[in-house]
Amino acid sequence: MTDTTALAVASTAGDFRVVRNPSPMPAADREAALADLKFGTQFTDHMARITWTRDGGWDNRRVEPYGPLQLDPAAAVLHYAQEIFEGLKAYRWADGSVWLFRPEANAQRLNRSARRMALPELPVEDFLGSVTSLLAVDNAWVPGVEESSLYLRPFMFASEAFLGVRPANVIDYLLIASPVGPYFAGGVKPVSIWVAQGFHRAGPGGTGDAKCGGNYAASLLPQQQAYDHGCQQVLFLDARDDRYLEELGGMNVFVVRRDGTVETPRLTGTILEGITRASVIQQLEDQNFKVIEKDITADEVVAGIESGDVAEVFACGTAAVVTPVGRLASPDFDVTINGGEAGEVTMRIRKALTDIQYGRAEDTYGWMRRVV
Ligand code: PLP
Repeated sequence: MTDTTALAVASTAGDFRVVRNPSPMPAADREAALADLKFGTQFTDHMARITWTRDGGWDNRRVEPYGPLQLDPAAAVLHYAQEIFEGLKAYRWADGSVWLFRPEANAQRLNRSARRMALPELPVEDFLGSVTSLLAVDNAWVPGVEESSLYLRPFMFASEAFLGVRPANVIDYLLIASPVGPYFAGGVKPVSIWVAQGFHRAGPGGTGDAKCGGNYAASLLPQQQAYDHGCQQVLFLDARDDRYLEELGGMNVFVVRRDGTVETPRLTGTILEGITRASVIQQLEDQNFKVIEKDITADEVVAGIESGDVAEVFACGTAAVVTPVGRLASPDFDVTINGGEAGEVTMRIRKALTDIQYGRAEDTYGWMRRVV
């Protein structure tokens, strides 16, 4: 482990008291589970937890057996949704070591979300400490199969039992982990996207740039409508003009022009600032692509696809990394992009990113942090 890549394990990381699960999954069962992964259904033997009170701050750092929470029915989160979360992955490299991709960026985004939702900020050292402490006991749950990973889900919620509408005085932060297989089993396939009709994910001054559960609750009905129209994902337009691309339910979006210019919606406060998005922009620029963050209308993208000026569209996020978009549909249009095939720039950037994440290429950016 070198100094530059070692996760800056917090001074507090050692403060996580470990209560071992008395009946962890037997190794043979775990290996069987790791050989048959479905997203978000299997969890590791432990979870990390820290509790905050308005008077005492963050305290009681622990790693404890994974299991149901005891929550008062009056817990504020169940009524007013004062809740935020993050998502990142631990990757096992060919040499057996375990690495994270830009975890400090997730810690910082958690705190931006916390400020918007009147939740307490979590010291970055505690965020990183929760990850290293959990992985220290659940390391065996990081799958070694190609393109698989251990998905980490940090989240924070109002656990105070109080029905008044105000920021809660008792908050819990938890970290759970779920092994996940390749997003595209059997090779990368372009997805079809439905443009949301009459629904918006976020509005000016709302919570669009916070990673809070409510944003996802609001996206479920339009997502269902996408399924009903034979599409896998929904694309949201802006709430003010109902014209400009914002993002998918859980991914940012990019448009590749025939001349090699790459465009992505600018961050207006209604879009989640994706860590993959920022990494893709940096990598494209380093490969001499011109990347423009701007307002992009759905109409101009559709016209560009029809004229051939738009060569590729892709989406990106932690779960699927970089995903080609093969079709864009709404009641007004139904267009196929690049013949429904994954584009060259899309696949090049996907490979560049996953090669760094899995240690197959040198990490010239200093993005990776070794944990185990
Ligand atoms: N947009 C939304 C709404 C998301 O939920 C996510 C996933 O976290 C992203 C974009 C992509 O963000 P990231 O690249 O940090 O995973």
